[in-house]
Amino acid sequence: MKKFRLLTPGPTTIPEKVLAKFAEPVVHHRTTIFEETFKELQELLSWLFQTKQPVLTLTVTGTGAMEAAVCNIFSAHDEVIVVNAGKFGERWTKIAKAYGLKVHEIMVDRGKALDPSDLEKKLNEFSSTKAVLFQASETSTGALMPVKAITELCAKHKVLSVCDGITAVGIFDLPMDAWGIDVLITGSQKALMLPPGLAFIALSDRAWKATESSTCPKFYLNLTSEKKNQAKQQTSWTPAISLIQGGVVSLGMLKHEGLSSLFEHHEKLASATRNAARALGLELFSAAPSPVLTTVCVPSSFSVDQGKKIQKIMQEKYGVIIMGGQDELQGKILRLSHFGYCDLFDVATGISALELALHELGYPLEFGKGVGAVLKTFS
Ligand SMILES: *Cc1c(COP(=O)(O)O)cnc(C)c1O
Repeated sequence: MKKFRLLTPGPTTIPEKVLAKFAEPVVHHRTTIFEETFKELQELLSWLFQTKQPVLTLTVTGTGAMEAAVCNIFSAHDEVIVVNAGKFGERWTKIAKAYGLKVHEIMVDRGKALDPSDLEKKLNEFSSTKAVLFQASETSTGALMPVKAITELCAKHKVLSVCDGITAVGIFDLPMDAWGIDVLITGSQKALMLPPGLAFIALSDRAWKATESSTCPKFYLNLTSEKKNQAKQQTSWTPAISLIQGGVVSLGMLKHEGLSSLFEHHEKLASATRNAARALGLELFSAAPSPVLTTVCVPSSFSVDQGKKIQKIMQEKYGVIIMGGQDELQGKILRLSHFGYCDLFDVATGISALELALHELGYPLEFGKGVGAVLKTFS
């Protein structure tokens, strides 16, 4: 019998306590019992986002909230700068273009972080820019972006900072109000330890102001009407009620842990994974590794096919699910995630499966070297 383990950047493992919640009957959403539950979730979300603004709950995946940000704040022909450091940066561009915005892209080498001086140059070059759209952590490469430097530049140039924090919120410090992030987004299936199906978005006063002049078409994703309804603990449409019920439990667990302890925990898991990779003689792919996931280069002696096989063996033989690279990075990198309901033993297990797969493919290694590095990090 195979036991599956998710070491992927979403969906992530769901705690038993949260799963148990899903066995409860679904309540109707136009009732006070729902409103009480929703209020609890709203309070937990404000805590998690570190904001005084309302954090809106949308029944969409993360991409839906990214789209909501674009179609509620901008109008066709508005100019925006997109930090394109990977697949998710590319997604900002695609969404913005779908709504007729004019996009100025900053192409960042895959695996690298944005150099803030490149953003400064772009901001000077395109002075009618309304916003900078970026990721806090680019999940396709494992690179951490300099969020504070980005928001400071945005403030200096009086443009909005629109941050995809989907693999960041609840993993590392991203204080929305303190750093002046104008739009912050996350999704349920990442650090929030829930199944996919909900996304969360908060806007600063400046961003809400900008929604007043937006003429992009919107209906399901109208944030202004959501804000009005959610102030009364109601949603415009039928929400994913079960996920909201589960969210109270999972966010309650996060709050019980505390933000600083959560951030420290993820730092430790990341450094354990990096140490394990080095101990196995594997190179790290990202020059600015995030505490979210570790991207490791497949051994240079491996072909692209062999590179893809590592992941396949880990999954099919050992039930450990990791992700490989996308597009041009296919077969070249491995992405080992370590966030959400993940601990030292999950990381050690993932590294064990990696050692077995590498050995099977003829990579010379001494069993336990990677796992030993994980244990040493924690001892
Ligand atoms: C997962 C993820 C998304 C959203 O993906 P969905 O499949 O729409 O939930 C967006 N940005 C980043 C950085 C992500 O990791």
